[in-house]
Parts: sequence; C-alpha cells; structure tokens
Amino acid sequence: MKAVFFTRHGGPEVLEYGERPEPAPGAGEVRVAIRAAAMNRLDVFVRNGIPDVPLPQIPGGDGAGVVDALGEGVADLAAGDRVLLQPGLWCGQCEFCRAGEQSLCVTFRILGEHVPGTFAEKVVVPRRNVFPIPAGLTFPEAAAFPLAYQTAWRMVVGRAAVKPGETVLVHGVGGGVAGAVVEIVILCGGRVIATSSDAENLRVAKEAGAELTIDYRSEDVGQVVRKHTARRGVDVVVDMVGEATWMTSLRAAARGGRIVTCGATSGPNPKEEIRLIFWKQLSILGSTMANDREFRALHAAVAARKIRPRVDRTFSLADAPAAYRYMEEGRQRGKIVLVPEGVQPEGPDGD
Ligand SMILES: [Zn+2]
Repeated sequence: MKAVFFTRHGGPEVLEYGERPEPAPGAGEVRVAIRAAAMNRLDVFVRNGIPDVPLPQIPGGDGAGVVDALGEGVADLAAGDRVLLQPGLWCGQCEFCRAGEQSLCVTFRILGEHVPGTFAEKVVVPRRNVFPIPAGLTFPEAAAFPLAYQTAWRMVVGRAAVKPGETVLVHGVGGGVAGAVVEIVILCGGRVIATSSDAENLRVAKEAGAELTIDYRSEDVGQVVRKHTARRGVDVVVDMVGEATWMTSLRAAARGGRIVTCGATSGPNPKEEIRLIFWKQLSILGSTMANDREFRALHAAVAARKIRPRVDRTFSLADAPAAYRYMEEGRQRGKIVLVPEGVQPEGPDGD
C-alpha cells in the first residue's frame, strides 16, 4: 500500500511517500481503507522527534474511511461500512481502563505516534476504536474532529466541568484544540473570553459565541480580563500555550478558579507564582485526549449537529510535505486533510 512515512526525525524533508507493507488485522482488530486523514499539531511534533516514536513511522492520528477487512472475532461490522477512528489506544485491563479512564491507561498510546497511523491507504485499529460516521458528514469532516475535539471535550466537560454561566478564558484560539474549546464551552452554556494575535481567528471566535475577544499583541490580557469581570477573574482558564501565558492564567483566574492544560506550545517550563495558587486556592488540572465515555458523548454531539467540524483544505497523500509546510505556517482556518490518490472525498456522502 502507499503511505507517508519517515525513517528519521526532522523537518518536512524527512517525509517519504511510497510502498509500505499492508497491515493485517489481528484478533479483535479492523482494517480500514482510508478515504481522508486529518492533520494535527501532534503530527509535526512526532515528525520532529519526541520520545517513544518507533522508526520507521507512518504518522497520522485522525482518519475516516471504509471497513476493508475484519480480524478474528469481529462480527458486528461489514466490509464497506463508513467509519471514523478514535486515535487513543488503551489496554482495557489496567486499573484506569477498568475505571473507565482510558486516557489514563498505563500503556496509553496514540495512533500515528506509537503505532502506524492514518497517513496511508490502510490502517489497522482495535474494533473499539471504530465508530460509524454520523449521517451527512463527508469523510474529511468525519476525520477532522476526533483528536482535537476529544482533547477539548475532556478539558471543558470532563476536567474543568464548565457550568452554565461560568466565564472561561481561552488562550490562542485558532484552528485545532483551542477553537474546539470555544465551541464546547458555548455548548455547555459557558461564557468565553478568547485571545489571539489574528483578527480572523478572533472574528471566528466571536461568531461562535465568544462574548469578548482580545488581541494579545495590542492589549494586556490580564488587565482586560480584570476589567471585564469587575476584578473578580474568570472561573476557568484553558491554557495550552504554556510559558508565554501561564502567569497571566494564574492572575486571571478567580478565587477558587480552575486552570486546565493539555499542552505547552510556547514551552513547558513557565514562571510560576505558588503563592497565587494557594492564596486563591486554584486547581491546576492536566488533561490528555479523552476517555471512552467522553468520546462517545462527543460523537453524539457531532451526530446531533451541535458540532460541525471545519475543513480548510485537502491535499493528496503524496503531497504530504506541502501539507505539513502549510500547517507549520499556521494560517489554516480549520482542518488540513490528506486524501489517498484516486479518492473523491467531497461528495455529500463522501463517495
Ligand atoms: Zn489500560
């Protein structure tokens, strides 16, 4: 089969496109013929080099397609079924899995990071990672939401547990996870304050329902938030920026506030003021991917059209280096999607 892969870490130049062995589904597994694969910032980190990435590696966590072959014991799917993939992989047996907290699994892995991913004509995943594509969604739309939106869903719903009327500060809204956070906070009845350096991203956040948007290049985010909340601060801060925003997050949180993080795009070692944490009795909440229950709730919200994933642009799988470069420029307004050669994914039913 054709696939994108790399045999060493580095920039877009390490990406190769060519033949890789077609994977065979083992017991309890399903092989899916990919019709669309969506890109995430994680794919760039994996290519650049983070620990535990086996080489050679086929990247890609997000994908949608049709069932191609079934492993032993899988009887409730048929070849040709339209499906999307949950990219989180768990053991199902450790204490965390048994408690329903799959993203805390002691062997938690992600498709395309620790095992061969979706930037290929075919991929093999456990049966429990295969979900039907909700009616009316194209393959690119179905591939566009699982990784980013489940990350946002767990932060907002599972970890911060945002309640109606609460105010949530979201740093660096754009595509990807922060944009999904804005949508999900609004869905929960929360009030959003969004920051970005990009006027178009702020416009999109406003359109999604943010009550206040702040251009952090021209305004002091802490001061604007203090003024907007009559010096009280916000109930929740969603901070995946890290070094550049952490002190602002600690200051912007109200007494008893929660700060939730799933990443650190500007760096992992921010300045911190511990006195602010204990005096204001802040809760710092870490979050990674989502558990099975949260993913199913997200899937239901997408099926109910409460969430509509946005696709910015599609590239051919063979043009993956160009797609990565486009992603690293950071000007996309939605998901970048890769499509295998010969696939026409844009029809209403994607086929
Ligand atoms: Zn486990």
